[in-house]
Amino acid sequence: MEKKLDELKDRLREVEDLQLVSALLNWDQSTYMPPGGAAARGRQMSLVARLGHEKLIDPAVGRLLDDLQPYAEGLDPDSDDAALIRVTRRQYDKSVRVPPRLLAQFNEHGAASYQAWTVARPANDFKAVQPMLEKTLDFSRQLADCFPGYEHIADPLIDYSDEGMKAESVRTLFANLREQLVPLLKEVLSQPVVDDSSVHQFFPEDKQRAFGERVIRDLGYDFNRGRQDKTHHPFMTKFSLGDVRITTRFQEDYLANGLFSTIHESGHAMYEQGIDMKYEASPLAHGTSAGVHESQSRLWENVVGRSRAFWGHYYPGLQELFPEQLGDVSLETFYRAINKVQPSVIRTEADQMTYDLHVMIRFDLELAMLEGSLEVRDLPDAWMARYESDLGITAKDDRDGCLQDVHWFAGPIGGSFQGYTLGNIMAAMFYRQALLAHPEIPAQIGSGEFGTLHGWLTDNIYRHGAKFTANDLVQRVTGGQLTIEPYISYLRGKFLG
Ligand code: ZN
Repeated sequence: MEKKLDELKDRLREVEDLQLVSALLNWDQSTYMPPGGAAARGRQMSLVARLGHEKLIDPAVGRLLDDLQPYAEGLDPDSDDAALIRVTRRQYDKSVRVPPRLLAQFNEHGAASYQAWTVARPANDFKAVQPMLEKTLDFSRQLADCFPGYEHIADPLIDYSDEGMKAESVRTLFANLREQLVPLLKEVLSQPVVDDSSVHQFFPEDKQRAFGERVIRDLGYDFNRGRQDKTHHPFMTKFSLGDVRITTRFQEDYLANGLFSTIHESGHAMYEQGIDMKYEASPLAHGTSAGVHESQSRLWENVVGRSRAFWGHYYPGLQELFPEQLGDVSLETFYRAINKVQPSVIRTEADQMTYDLHVMIRFDLELAMLEGSLEVRDLPDAWMARYESDLGITAKDDRDGCLQDVHWFAGPIGGSFQGYTLGNIMAAMFYRQALLAHPEIPAQIGSGEFGTLHGWLTDNIYRHGAKFTANDLVQRVTGGQLTIEPYISYLRGKFLG
């Protein structure tokens, strides 16, 4: 058995390494590659992806998994070997169901569709990408249909990013959240309008960058095993557990954009950096789901980085760095500016109170398109109608409407958005649990010490990697199931407390 397990691990290491190589090609493409490299890079990335897929669905892997099954059943389910066999089994079973031809076609279409989107969005030309999007919807349905027996056609697609979650359970959770969130938002909006002009001044990029890097170093992002570069759309990526990188962007007339992007991505990266090194180059060496990943980025960005305690420590330093801009701005004024609640049309710029409404609109529209109750050609109008009814505001055009997010133009329709709100919900659950274990955490944040919180997250979440599914992890950490109560009470305390 030991020999078979070793053989499985050797094979999986190659699958992983191909994925990591692909990530490096992608990082380079998004940071430093000259435009002339695009065509060859696309070809190379699809080759590496195909090789990885072929290695994973090799019948030899299936035989090894079959042979190892009795051994796995005799193990403690919490052991690393049992987890490795369990997680690989699920990935293998999923991967063999999807014909390589479909995958290749979908990937190729995704690349073309992304390319078309980069032109159509600035041109505000939905019609130009409508046929692409129709094809994406068709591919998404084909992909879902590789998994017959689903309750909802979105289930297999949701399972790709948030394993174990289903359309129905997410829909119910989101309906409950909306029911609580909407009246809360109304209450917050009935308060006097916040003046946020202090963060809308000229802040030179080099200083912003230096400050952001100082902050995330304090939070626990390890620059010996990572680095930060600039991109259009910030992201986190990794090439091994010893090389977890982030990217950010800066807006010189808006301080909050770059700073909170940096903190957000460092949260994703600290999760990956915190995975136990013994899982290196195995299927366990990943964050476990989109939702849990987002819980970490948003915990650091919002729960910590937008808290009063945090700025009690960092604000004097920020004022020193920007004396002309912030010298006369009080801590309270600054704190309110970075937490201003105001319905807006762009998801990535939304405040904490309205953010989830943006996510739920997308989630519902995805389901409607997959179900066939919404035609792609009617998407722009449906989008506007939902913004009007949910946020009381509509974009002036499709560019800031249904063309704003890249997701549907680079991957399937279905499963792309629920993770953001699941992440907010889980962040509040996890943070509450951390405070129960260590009530001193808020005071520590107030003096710029993050070791206790970072250590608690490492012990309870990071080090496990993909060993436990999101639902299992939530159960282990909180002793219960996913619930919106901690999130609602956190929001209420922060914005109406
Ligand atoms: Zn994120």
